[in-house]
Amino acid sequence: MNKDVSRLASNMGKRLIEAVYPPRCVLCKRPGFKQMDICTECYRAMPWIHVGCSQCAIPLPTIDGHEVKCGNCLQKSPRFDRSLSLFEYDKGAMTLIQQLKFNDKLACARLLGNLLADRVVQHPADHPGLILPVPLFNKRLRKRGFNQSVEIARTVSKRLHIPMDIHSVVRVRNTRAQSGLDKKQRRRNIRGAFEVIKQLPADHIAIIDDVVTTTSTSNELAGLLKRNGVKRVEVWSIARAV
Ligand SMILES: [Zn+2]
Ligand SMILES: [Zn+2]
Repeated sequence: MNKDVSRLASNMGKRLIEAVYPPRCVLCKRPGFKQMDICTECYRAMPWIHVGCSQCAIPLPTIDGHEVKCGNCLQKSPRFDRSLSLFEYDKGAMTLIQQLKFNDKLACARLLGNLLADRVVQHPADHPGLILPVPLFNKRLRKRGFNQSVEIARTVSKRLHIPMDIHSVVRVRNTRAQSGLDKKQRRRNIRGAFEVIKQLPADHIAIIDDVVTTTSTSNELAGLLKRNGVKRVEVWSIARAV
């Protein structure tokens, strides 16, 4: 099939799917807007982070247009260079992420991936050469059946035309759930949890995670990537706990 014909077929397929399964809000089931699985009301009600620390994405009071860093990052620079996060991790964001883990998996992952891609496009900077979803430990992956960060990354990768890599970095150790641990315990809990098993094909990489809490996971992963020759690491996440 030549390219034009296959593009036409794929567009027709897309329209057919939209006609049969019109976008519906994953939160309230009303019709979606802009072909997304969220309605305008729920979209507006989400706890968007309008201005965040350029390095760790923690929400900051509005400062006109300039890239700013929070006190923590100024005091001790994380190993990653830049972060973007969509939402403060409050009830609305929690519902969306829980849906992603337990209910409307694919619609939710597609929605969150599209919103994240929109955010990346709104903040112009050199695009990374590779997208790396935070790997899950194999046993946990088998139990849950899928890695939510991979599902989000799939859409981001498609939208931004950046390849996704799920083979070069693995989680070699299962870690205790990070919730309930303080910052120091989290750091210790995650240390040595990942390993690079194949040469990384890019020197600028974006890590994708669903929720960033204390940044200990992204920091550990960024440190590992940098020890393996990566020059610049970004962290793109759906929600940032405050
Ligand atoms: Zn809604
Ligand atoms: Zn910061």
